[in-house]
Amino acid sequence: MQKVLLLDNQNRPINICTWKRALILLMKGKAVNARRLNDIESMIKIENVLIPNVIKLTYDLAVPYKELPFCRENILVRDEFICQYCGKKFPADELTLDHVFPKSRLGPDIWENIVACCRHCNQKKADRTPKEAKMKLLRRPFRPKDYLIFELKKCPDYLVRQWIDYFEAS
Ligand SMILES: [Zn+2]
Repeated sequence: MQKVLLLDNQNRPINICTWKRALILLMKGKAVNARRLNDIESMIKIENVLIPNVIKLTYDLAVPYKELPFCRENILVRDEFICQYCGKKFPADELTLDHVFPKSRLGPDIWENIVACCRHCNQKKADRTPKEAKMKLLRRPFRPKDYLIFELKKCPDYLVRQWIDYFEAS
């Protein structure tokens, strides 16, 4: 899914949205192209429509505190698709989620208790704590703090580079 960087009307990054959301904001006049020139390379082409990859809100926004959704995708991104026991990197569909303190013993579904884990390590660990299974965690699981930086991790490098160029040029 193509992503667009959304700025507030003071040019501060506030969000990364899908091209669909960007298109709606542009069509409703709630946002405009933030780039000074219609630089084709920085446009996303969807059929015959060109959407800039940086847009700017046209109105004042009191940015509400945004809680990062607790979901499988975000846990895998936090753990960089690395099994937190064996340290190897896997494609998303080969990773499972492991409850560090086992779910069968009422380990909670919270950021601090769930890690990315390959199938092999998950089977090996089974319903045990890392200590009982004699398996060491790469790092303690944590709740990611900065929403925007976290969202950036999900975007392809070339896109992040274009956004950085935007700020360097403006
Ligand atoms: Zn593993």
